[in-house]
Amino acid sequence: MAIEISEKTIKHEFIERISQLSGQDIFKCFQCGTCGGACPMSGEMEILPRRIMRMLQLGMEDRISESETGWVCASCHTCSVNCPRGIDLARVMEAVRLLILRKNINKVEPSGLPAETIRDLPQIALVSGFRKMTS
Ligand code: SF4
Ligand code: SF4
Repeated sequence: MAIEISEKTIKHEFIERISQLSGQDIFKCFQCGTCGGACPMSGEMEILPRRIMRMLQLGMEDRISESETGWVCASCHTCSVNCPRGIDLARVMEAVRLLILRKNINKVEPSGLPAETIRDLPQIALVSGFRKMTS
């Protein structure tokens, strides 16, 4: 399905908040795709990092917020060290997650986890997962 882009659909405030939170100039990205090629999680992402960057430049807040890509990101920084434009994409992904969490949306509900999951997972994995995915 074609997505219509117009001045009305571009969320400039969203672009500014992502830029402020991440400290990155997202407009330096020229969509080379090096980040996605290096990303160990790209096989699990419905939208590759290169496209996320383009959608950020276009202020597509709703579509990005619906995507699981930011949550699949493992914050490994492989993209950041490989970007030819010096963009710390891991920080951009973190900013995307923060803006969603600030709407009080939890991506994991601790009380909803099965008892066997809580029993079997290392505590450090649970804690880091909650820190990443709960508001
Ligand atoms: S590697 Fe850098 S410039 Fe290339 S698409 Fe990714 S963020 Fe953009
Ligand atoms: S920080 Fe996230 S987007 Fe970047 S390479 Fe690692 S998993 Fe992929």
